[in-house]
Amino acid sequence: MLRKLIRTSESQVVSERAVCDVEGCKNPAVRSIATERALKAGLRVRSKGRRVRLCKEHYKEFKKRVKKERQLERWRWMARM
Ligand SMILES: [Zn+2]
Repeated sequence: MLRKLIRTSESQVVSERAVCDVEGCKNPAVRSIATERALKAGLRVRSKGRRVRLCKEHYKEFKKRVKKERQLERWRWMARM
């Protein structure tokens, strides 16, 4: 009974302090983005719904990956011409 109570309060603390949703990452979250976008960017997120929270580092990585993808798309498009 007591153990259960402690666990419950712990999980509430965690959810109040938003933590990065990337697998294995425990950094504080700074941004939230759509889960779909994170998955498309190749981030391994623990999807909990429509949005995931990212820490500073993973948000940077996300942005980098999105940029790369866009460049690749442009390259493919140019190759077709
Ligand atoms: Zn992270």
